[in-house]
Amino acid sequence: MRAVQYLEIGRPPQVVDVDVPEPGPGQILLKVTAAGVCHSDLTVMGWSAEEFPYQLPLTLGHEGAGVVAAVGANVHAVSEGDSVVVYGPWGCGTCHACSQGRENYCPRAAGLGIVPPGLGRPGALAEYLLVDSERHLVPIGDLDPVTTVPLTDAGLTPYHAVKRSLSKLEPGSVTVVIGAGGLGHVGIQLLRAMSATVVVALDIREESRELALRSGAHQALPSDPKAVDTVRELTDGAGARVVFDFVGAQATVDLAAQMAGLDSDINVVGIGGGSLPVSFFSPPYGTRVSTSYWGTRPELVELVELARRGALDVHVERYGLEEGPRVYERMEAGKIQGRAVVVP
Ligand code: NAD
Ligand code: ZN
Ligand code: ZN
Repeated sequence: MRAVQYLEIGRPPQVVDVDVPEPGPGQILLKVTAAGVCHSDLTVMGWSAEEFPYQLPLTLGHEGAGVVAAVGANVHAVSEGDSVVVYGPWGCGTCHACSQGRENYCPRAAGLGIVPPGLGRPGALAEYLLVDSERHLVPIGDLDPVTTVPLTDAGLTPYHAVKRSLSKLEPGSVTVVIGAGGLGHVGIQLLRAMSATVVVALDIREESRELALRSGAHQALPSDPKAVDTVRELTDGAGARVVFDFVGAQATVDLAAQMAGLDSDINVVGIGGGSLPVSFFSPPYGTRVSTSYWGTRPELVELVELARRGALDVHVERYGLEEGPRVYERMEAGKIQGRAVVVP
């Protein structure tokens, strides 16, 4: 089968021929129907040989959808032909966090060598994808896999982040979303679907600001220090109740700290390498600064349900598998709107 692989540190990924895997006991082989491309892959491919934690070659793609093509022994909950999406942040399945579906925060996964598809083991940018357990699969029925696959990360990550701050998103509150790309544009839709907060989006790209407005943002501003004044004006000086930073660069975490109000939340979701000093006097009193990683299994089930109810309109750019390397080039150049989805 064909697969998009990262073969060598510092070299662009390539499309290569690899064997179709066979499902062992408990495993499921999916014929991939769609695979989303996340900005995190660019960060991973930017690491030096010393920093790089995975084996090479690595088949990329940690957003996967497929149709069950074959199942190993003792697989009962899904059968051939089922259309599913894959929950990516696999845990051990048995600890307290995993028992609550919070496999994204499983403290045992790393020690057991359990890694997500596309982030350590073969990912979804291929014709077939091997999944270790039926519990990682969420059925999507007749939903379009191309617009549904981004929910597994570009949707799940902001959904998890928004849920953590939901109690602060009261009517009258102002929420800032920095970065209206794959994650951010879905995050804006989720904020509108789940709360009455006023959403202000910041992005350096005009096209992303337009997508932010189409996604339901009340305002979309260039991501610069002037936006701090606008947010202060909008809130009678109080500042934002919640800031979601889907970039995480130094420039954006600095903006987040300047915009946040008293008793606010700053959630840094982007992995852009910025850091935010926290002391008693800064950011403002009561502010909770946090990161969040991906999302929980129940949250993915909820999100698929939300999509089934028509609450989300994920903006996708569709590509063929052979175009995989070009997708990363376009992403690096800031040319992707919403989510790029590869259809093998
Ligand atoms: P993307 O490339 O689709 O979107 C990024 C957006 O941010 C673009 O619209 C871009 O114009 C904008 N942007 C870039 N620099 C900016 C700046 N200085 N100010 C304002 N806007 C800026 O990326 P994505 O796939 O949506 O991922 C977003 C971030 O989230 C990445 O850092 C990614 O690695 C990270 N991520 C984190 C998790 C997690 O679990 N925490 C999960 C997935 C992705
Ligand atoms: Zn990702
Ligand atoms: Zn666990």
